[in-house]
Amino acid sequence: MIYMDNAATTKLNEVALQKANVYLTEKYYNPSALYREGFELNMELEATRKKLVSYVADSDEFELIFTSCGTESDNTAVFNYGRRGNIVTTEGEHSAIISSVNEMKNRGVEVRIAPLNSDSSVNVEKLLELVDEKTSLVSVMHVNNETGAVNDINAIAKAVKEKNKRVIFHSDGVQAFGKLPFKLNKNVDLYSLSAHKIGGLKGVGALIKRKTLQFNPFIYGGGQEKGRRSGTENVFGIKTLEYAAEEKFKNLKNDNIRFEEYKKYFKENLNSQIFDIISSDNAIPCILCLSAKKCRGEILLHMVNDKGLIIGTGSACSSNSKNRYSRVILACGYGESVADTVIRISFSPETTMEEVVSAVEILNNSAEKLAGKMV
Ligand code: PLP
Repeated sequence: MIYMDNAATTKLNEVALQKANVYLTEKYYNPSALYREGFELNMELEATRKKLVSYVADSDEFELIFTSCGTESDNTAVFNYGRRGNIVTTEGEHSAIISSVNEMKNRGVEVRIAPLNSDSSVNVEKLLELVDEKTSLVSVMHVNNETGAVNDINAIAKAVKEKNKRVIFHSDGVQAFGKLPFKLNKNVDLYSLSAHKIGGLKGVGALIKRKTLQFNPFIYGGGQEKGRRSGTENVFGIKTLEYAAEEKFKNLKNDNIRFEEYKKYFKENLNSQIFDIISSDNAIPCILCLSAKKCRGEILLHMVNDKGLIIGTGSACSSNSKNRYSRVILACGYGESVADTVIRISFSPETTMEEVVSAVEILNNSAEKLAGKMV
């Protein structure tokens, strides 16, 4: 099977799995336990936090709270910091943000949604118009999970703070962490990430937070994570995140060069009578969003699946949604007829050029058949 849906989830990184295995077999202690083994594990988790933060931010200014997933990290940001006045976010956000801000709306907070540009990055001018004295939280995703569009969150956060310096600025970095080189500047306050998008275990996430920000937990219990997120830490899962991140950041530059070559091959060899490229040239290298004329994305997905190729149609998390069309693609200005034909290819470091060549052939053959039937 050729797996090209790595934006939905990734295979557990082999090195990470091997290195983390010791936390299942030998170092299985509770990191909150008082005996030496527990205390040592707790110290190890402290080092892991610092290391993860250091990839994207200054670890003197930022700290990290482990969560159960990217969705929990996003919810934590919204429910903690979007409780008064208005929340400003974007049409491109993942449902982890959209559904939580909708819940805040039910609870009486005004929600303002900024439109997207045609490449699905946020329209910054329009976003800034929505920010005022009453804005408590602004949340702008770093990389869009459907198209790979990149928002310049440092510049956006700076402009937002110039309008209202009391705003808390959050970014959903789930599709960016480990995939783009960058450092958070002093205007970003919160950043979400998820282990399973970069070769770590599913069910492990983190919220990077500016140390000076006050925090009100919404999970109470044994007081883990300094009382901010109770529940015994998933030490094995956290360690897979640490080691998977280590692998990703170590190879980031070379992997991205390779992914750009894969994308080029797709662009040059897909049947141009059928396929249109939706992702812009500045999209993240590992995501390529396409439209296949006259082919319903979902049918094409099943056809190529039968031939040994796994791709996505948009966000895996929204594939259960009653809404047939991608909210993000419509927000870029495409009509329903295009939104219906969208597929997403996403690479991991394990993807090979041979797989890319086969994938293009399978896609061309299947789409030609399907488009022929639809004429
Ligand atoms: N945010 C974005 C941009 C995502 O792509 C995803 C997953 O698809 C999430 C949040 C949710 O992450 P998790 O699956 O860890 O809950």
